[in-house]
Amino acid sequence: LENIAVKRPELLAPAGNFEKLKIAVRYGADAVYLGGRQYSLRAHAGNFSETELAEAVLFAHGHGVKVYAAANIFAHNQDLQGLAHHLRLLREVGVDGVIISDPGVLSMARQTVPELPIHLSTQANVTNLASARFWADQGVRRLNLARELSLAEIREIRRAVSCELEIFVHGAVCISYSGRCLLSLYLTGRHPNRGDCAHPCRYLYRLEEEKRPGQFFPVEEDSRGTYIMNSKDLCLLPRLGELIEAGADSFKIEGRMKSTYYVGGIVRLYRAALDFFLDQGSRAELPAAYFAELSRIGSRGGTDHFLTGPPDGSDMLYDGITVRQEYGPAGIVREGGPRPLVEVRNPITVGEELEYLAAGLENVNARIEGMETLDGQPISRANPNQLVRLFLAPPARGWEPLGLVRKRLT
Ligand code: SF4
Repeated sequence: LENIAVKRPELLAPAGNFEKLKIAVRYGADAVYLGGRQYSLRAHAGNFSETELAEAVLFAHGHGVKVYAAANIFAHNQDLQGLAHHLRLLREVGVDGVIISDPGVLSMARQTVPELPIHLSTQANVTNLASARFWADQGVRRLNLARELSLAEIREIRRAVSCELEIFVHGAVCISYSGRCLLSLYLTGRHPNRGDCAHPCRYLYRLEEEKRPGQFFPVEEDSRGTYIMNSKDLCLLPRLGELIEAGADSFKIEGRMKSTYYVGGIVRLYRAALDFFLDQGSRAELPAAYFAELSRIGSRGGTDHFLTGPPDGSDMLYDGITVRQEYGPAGIVREGGPRPLVEVRNPITVGEELEYLAAGLENVNARIEGMETLDGQPISRANPNQLVRLFLAPPARGWEPLGLVRKRLT
């Protein structure tokens, strides 16, 4: 491979629940990360019961995909009860690594399940090579580096330690050091270090004078308001080649709380981009089709965050909480074939154009000619969660179970 003298890095995807895990596997993840119900930072991610955890590992391993389990809470004393049991369970179901940020949890894991590889969570904020060496000396197999690092710093850390390095390449970022922020707890009672952040850094803020309660004065950056702490989402899609060259072992996508559609679309896109760089060389330029595909999946803007240097105003979203989406999910294929059975996500009507997300970056377009309910009743409109059989023109080609279908939003 031109310019590349390192091994093939892993694409690591979020699996907020079993369905998202299957979708991530289907669209090309090499590994997934998930949480159990108690010790994971993503309280609202759906998460896995003990039985589901075992099934998930079996499914992933059956497809050659690794599973890492998050136990990355900052534990209080009462959290330690049951922790040893949970760690043993992770070992028994056969996860390939446990993600930890708390030094106490780490030392309990080393005592209880010494054979289970430990991955240090980004919550531990490894921002320098001395810190990387420290954690490597604690027996950590993999470091998920802080998101607040430049490419030069990543390279220096690579030279300083031999353990695996994992880099976040896509998804939401905090305006504080990852997750080290209590804004959500103060404003909403939802605890960010328990995975329950309400993202108040994205809110619109106004000024109130104490003797005029209820009168809010706009603090205007522009006529749309003041989103002073509202960062764009991280997107290192065009920088993957440089990160491969820098010696990263794993590229991680954020988003255990994100939708199935988002997870499938982003995994497919990063799979294709990673394969592109591995094939074409790390200095190759990513073709425009990749960015067009990114805009169809939707994002909250795109920033390379600290990779080139400290972020500035251009890395923020000052004019609103979201970015308008042109495309959205239409459904998930439950049964393939020329007349596929689809579970609907957004309302669809006869005459509408659909787009099926095939392998690579191929999108297969088809028009809905007719729809039927499960008991064979023809319908002209289907609503979210409804199972419908689609008659398409041209007839569906290569639509497979767990394939994603999208549509242009009006
Ligand atoms: S409020 Fe924003 S900065 Fe704070 S933890 Fe939540 S996402 Fe991160």
